[in-house]
Amino acid sequence: MSTATTKMEVPLIDLKPQHSALREELRAAVERVFDSQQFILGEDVRLLESEVARYTRTEYAVGCASGSDALLLALLALDIGEGDEVVTTPFTFFATASAIARAGARPVFVDIEPRTYNINPAKVEAAITERTRAIVPVHLYGQCAEMDDILGVAERHKLAVVEDAAQAIGAEDRGRRAGSMGAVGCFSFYPTKNLGAVGEAGMLTTDDPALAERLRRLRVHGGATEYQHEELGFNSRLDTLQAAVLRVKLPHLDAWSQARRERADTYTRLLADAGLGELVTPPFVRHEARHIFHLYVIRVPARASRDALIEHLKQNGVGTKVYYPVPMHLQQCFAYLSYKEGDFPEAERAARETLALPMFPELTDEQQQYVVATVRRFFA
Ligand SMILES: *Cc1c(COP(=O)(O)O)cnc(C)c1O
Repeated sequence: MSTATTKMEVPLIDLKPQHSALREELRAAVERVFDSQQFILGEDVRLLESEVARYTRTEYAVGCASGSDALLLALLALDIGEGDEVVTTPFTFFATASAIARAGARPVFVDIEPRTYNINPAKVEAAITERTRAIVPVHLYGQCAEMDDILGVAERHKLAVVEDAAQAIGAEDRGRRAGSMGAVGCFSFYPTKNLGAVGEAGMLTTDDPALAERLRRLRVHGGATEYQHEELGFNSRLDTLQAAVLRVKLPHLDAWSQARRERADTYTRLLADAGLGELVTPPFVRHEARHIFHLYVIRVPARASRDALIEHLKQNGVGTKVYYPVPMHLQQCFAYLSYKEGDFPEAERAARETLALPMFPELTDEQQQYVVATVRRFFA
């Protein structure tokens, strides 16, 4: 065999190269915040908000404490609560569904489209009732859901669209940026996201000035001015330190996402060259989409035993992860919704068959060759 396979360590994600390249700038930004002694909201948050608004091509951006809070704030700002239903995907990170339930509404799940793993727009309409108030599409793995179809259904039924763009900053659907297509876009700056803070942080985007103002109020206890509370909000302010770090990173985001796209192309080519096309399904990229490859997720059919492949990769130093092993409708905390196994067969199959391979902008050719050679040895 020509592929020399000396063992390498290839982590699922490695933030060290990014941080060491920006070390001095990050240090200066953090020191500036210490010197200002303004640790909450403040100038860096205000500037980050305008920079993110520009980047996502929206009018307003409102910083908040996390992506999870962004989703909850968006629903509250749209007056969604008790007695309302919100349609979303069962194949997502927990926060998408929990925000709906936390707002007091009922999550209503719709199965995914098996190639993109995003909500299947053809199935959304059948899930709409007279109680439905909103649709929350998730742009999973960094590729936008089919927004034209979703926006069309929403318009016909007068529903709000809240985009869960936590994995998709800079992604596009027919030239429109993630977070700019619905009423509100929700972003996460969790450290491993494409634009990652060094702690918790999130952002909301909208073109509606009234909604932006309401979001700003809700994130600070529901008051436009201190000690005057027009409504019941909560504390979901964005740290100035996080904003300062994010402002150093944002100018690099396009280059990082481009590098991720190139890494993704390399994987897909290496998998095909290794003759793994039959055994492993690479990510499908819609031609209308600008995929930012937050994650590079392959599908390994049940007969090829994904879990044994994961173990084999782990034994050989390759980090992988399953996003997500248990769909939302089968989570214990949602048992009261009375869904059962078999209700969303594509989401359930994706949960059994997918795994994410190492993906970060600084991944080397050598590392990718090693990952694919290791996958090939499993099937040899
Ligand atoms: C990361 C993520 C969130 C939550 O963001 P946090 O900042 O971790 O609270 C929500 N939805 C999706 C799809 C995510 O990937």
